[in-house]
Amino acid sequence: MEKQIVTCQNCGAKNRVALNSEKQAICGKCKSPLIVSVSPIMITDGNFAAEIENSKIPVLLDFWATWCPPCKMIAPTIDALAKELAGKVKIGKLDVDKNPRTASKFRVQSIPTLIIFKNGEEVDRIVGAQSKAAMMQRLQAFM
Ligand SMILES: [Zn+2]
Repeated sequence: MEKQIVTCQNCGAKNRVALNSEKQAICGKCKSPLIVSVSPIMITDGNFAAEIENSKIPVLLDFWATWCPPCKMIAPTIDALAKELAGKVKIGKLDVDKNPRTASKFRVQSIPTLIIFKNGEEVDRIVGAQSKAAMMQRLQAFM
């Protein structure tokens, strides 16, 4: 798992914390909750099983491609969700051109497609660019 150095806002101690950890990170020195800035994780055909199928928390996976303007449009929303939902929902991005196996397994025909997984199973799907509020609302059902 990827680790990141996070400075405690309370006491200034530096902590090494796992990104996309399923637990709230706590400062080792003063036990304050740490604010971890989390980016979406890159999902590939190779790590799909480890990151999605074995995730204990729900996952929102953004199927995207570099040539897709609406995908670029929602990228900041996806980044914001990753930060806001850290520890609650895992946010992933999968480049459909580089990972055709997973894209075809889920019959992703147009992008962006956002699939919500719970216990490794698809539970909801959002096709096309949507507002952050709309994505949040769909996610809330599974949190
Ligand atoms: Zn501290």
